[in-house]
Amino acid sequence: MLSNEGVKKARWHVDHINLDEHFKLVYTIHAFTHNRLECLLAAGLQSKPVNGFGCSDCACKSHLFYRLYDPADEVVKVFRKYGLEPLVEEIL
Ligand SMILES: [Zn+2]
Repeated sequence: MLSNEGVKKARWHVDHINLDEHFKLVYTIHAFTHNRLECLLAAGLQSKPVNGFGCSDCACKSHLFYRLYDPADEVVKVFRKYGLEPLVEEIL
């Protein structure tokens, strides 16, 4: 008998990244808002996009960006540019 118990299913784009052994999610940066700012935040991080990632329902080039360095400070600045108070949470 087949079972899905214990099997991770990829639903969101980030799920696909997490299932790849070469990647490790070490922290998230998020903020509470009633506004839809995902595309504005993506526009603020526009250099080095992974084209077509996470933007199937909008006109952005991407919602995923490649950096050789830790981008936390850059992401926090973009959040604050749009009046958000970013929360950084480490993933254990
Ligand atoms: Zn977008």
